Amino acid sequence: MPWKHSLVAKFSLFYTGIVLLLLAASFLYSGGVVKRLYTSFLQKKFQQEAKIVSRLLSSQLEGEALDKLCRLIATDLGVRLTVIAPDGKVLGDSEEPSSTMENHGTRPEVLEALAGGTGESIRYSTTVGYEMLYQAIVDRAGPSPRILRLSVPLGDIEEVIGSMRRAILVGLVLISAVGLVFAYLFSRRLGQRVGRMADFSQKVALGSFPQNFFPRKGEDELTLLEQNLNEMSVKIREKIKEILVEKEKVDSILRCMIEGLVVIDTRGTVVLLNDNARQMFHLAANQSFSGASFMEVSRHPEMKKLVEEVLACDCSRECFSKEVSLDEGRWVRVNAVSLRDGDEHPLGYILVFHDITEIKRLETVRADFVANVSHELRTPLTAIRGYVETLLRNPPADPEESQNFLAIVHRHSERLGRLIDDLLTLSDLESGKIQLAREEIEAGDLIRRVEEIFKDQASKKGVAFSHQIDPELPTIVGDPDRLQQLLINLVDNAVKYTAAGGQVKITARASDHTRGAERGAVQVAVVDTGCGIPAKDLPRLTERFYRVDKARSRELGGTGLGLAIVKHIVQAHGGQLKIESKPQQGTTVSVTLPGAIADKKANGVLFLCTANSCRSQMAEGFTRAIAPKETRVFSAGTEPKEIHPLAVKVMEEAGIDISNQTSKGLQAMPLEQIDLVVTLCGEAAESCPTLPPNTRHLHWPLPDPTIAQGDEREVLEAFRKVRDEIRTQVEKLFSLNP
Ligand code: ADP
Repeated sequence: MPWKHSLVAKFSLFYTGIVLLLLAASFLYSGGVVKRLYTSFLQKKFQQEAKIVSRLLSSQLEGEALDKLCRLIATDLGVRLTVIAPDGKVLGDSEEPSSTMENHGTRPEVLEALAGGTGESIRYSTTVGYEMLYQAIVDRAGPSPRILRLSVPLGDIEEVIGSMRRAILVGLVLISAVGLVFAYLFSRRLGQRVGRMADFSQKVALGSFPQNFFPRKGEDELTLLEQNLNEMSVKIREKIKEILVEKEKVDSILRCMIEGLVVIDTRGTVVLLNDNARQMFHLAANQSFSGASFMEVSRHPEMKKLVEEVLACDCSRECFSKEVSLDEGRWVRVNAVSLRDGDEHPLGYILVFHDITEIKRLETVRADFVANVSHELRTPLTAIRGYVETLLRNPPADPEESQNFLAIVHRHSERLGRLIDDLLTLSDLESGKIQLAREEIEAGDLIRRVEEIFKDQASKKGVAFSHQIDPELPTIVGDPDRLQQLLINLVDNAVKYTAAGGQVKITARASDHTRGAERGAVQVAVVDTGCGIPAKDLPRLTERFYRVDKARSRELGGTGLGLAIVKHIVQAHGGQLKIESKPQQGTTVSVTLPGAIADKKANGVLFLCTANSCRSQMAEGFTRAIAPKETRVFSAGTEPKEIHPLAVKVMEEAGIDISNQTSKGLQAMPLEQIDLVVTLCGEAAESCPTLPPNTRHLHWPLPDPTIAQGDEREVLEAFRKVRDEIRTQVEKLFSLNP
């Protein structure tokens, strides 16, 4: 800052000005005061001297004799003495012969003395040529009164005043100089403190709130101000921290919401959008929407109508709700409420978008199902009723014809029975009413039994039936009746949809050690060389009543529920279903079922990573929360490592504290206590060296979130994704071990 603008300069100049004014005032004022004091002192002195003089002067004396006596007395007193008669005639004078002096009757001091006993006057004396002080007193000691006038030149006093002024000036200049130095020092100190306050305010303006910026020195007002600023900074910092925590909470809520959330103001401008809303309206994660209307942001004509309706409605009383169809067959239900301040003034609206596409789909499925069931039931019933009525009203004469009719009625009633059985099975499976048995089963036995059932049927149709069962097949675990039903449905389809001359084969082998699959699982496949299924139909085959060729299926006695039942049985066993088919070439339906080994209780679980141990730490956290109490849980990386802070954070979001977990190396693990090892690294499980012997092994290949690309938010998202996958796997693992 230039010096001339500084506080020090301003204070110094101000002080100098004051000093100069003071000097000028004292210079001018002191002369008058001294003169007044001096003259009043002389007047008092003259009054006393006049009394003495009156006693010394004989009233008889006049003329030269009086002049002489006057001169003697005046010399001793150091004054001029004049004796004046009441008529103004000068009777005697100490300096001039009284006979030559003019009448003094008009002199102001004489007139004043005659009137009041004493008189005084200061005036320029033409006789002596400078200013004189005259003091006249009426002397009534003699027979006739006379006036004694003492006078003294005031020239001396001017000299006294001059030298006194010089002394005052020198004294004041010295004092002012010292004062100026003090003023400079004081203003410099003040300037420094004010400058520090300016620094402080700049820091606050830039958003940093320094702690204890001002030291506590002294008790003055500035210190008080500084301490208040210190306190203010701490309070603001705390408030900002609180606001940030609140914001983080709101952000977390918005992030965790599965609904899309949009906040608009009263003009329809977007104020806030959560990630799900961005996804719903295909907005990039970093796309800015500030100042844009919601219609521009959503770019959907339905949204334009919706916002108009929301803005027009009084959502304060009741919640606005509407279902809207978006592109690509998506449906959303929009609920809107108005946002108001404390005085009930509208601020905007909160719009919550629920994706109800699945609900809508299920509604359609349900409606289709009811229509399908009615139709499927009515078809055989109509046939049965028709034939029975014919038999009752017009019984055919030919008994063979009657037999034919009855055979048709029988066939349709069988179909009706099958349909009802399948519907009941399906409903039981879907509602979870069926309690699955958990028995160890040899897949080979199961396959052979089913083969027995279909052997004749296949050979009658001219379809070759075979099986191929791996000799080293692990035992599977499950409900034997349900699994048999599953195989019957698959083989029934294969035989049904394979023409004479074709082949049906059941294979069983140990499952590949594929991604996510467990060691010990068994894959059973039913392979045929039948008519095959067009690719477009494949995804819908497991829907109830879905059939590629309805007429053909019915003709072949199908209910359209076989694969739906298969899907549910597979799901209930925690397995996987895969349908591969090529039209005119054949179909392969494979089912992977968990091996018995996965069903054994794990009392000691070790989660293992080759790289960063954060995945095993998260798995340990979830296992501790979910697994039975007696389960011993360990987690390790191949090397000991610090727990990643983001792993701690995302687990905290899931309500689990892993901050106290320790991450040890594999070497430190009590291997004898471990009977299940779960590897979680993205690399092949084999890259984990020295796995504990005699343990079963699961592999959950998950990416390492610590090496995720992107900014902090994206890395955090990667952690959350891995956390959620781990949670699903752990839940699955321990729901298998009730
Ligand atoms: P359905 O009782 O009609 O066989 P499913 O649910 O078992 O009902 O099968 C659904 C549809 O899938 C069948 O209608 C048929 O069109 C097709 N499908 C199932 N298995 C095969 C197969 N092995 N070969 C060709 N098509 C098949």
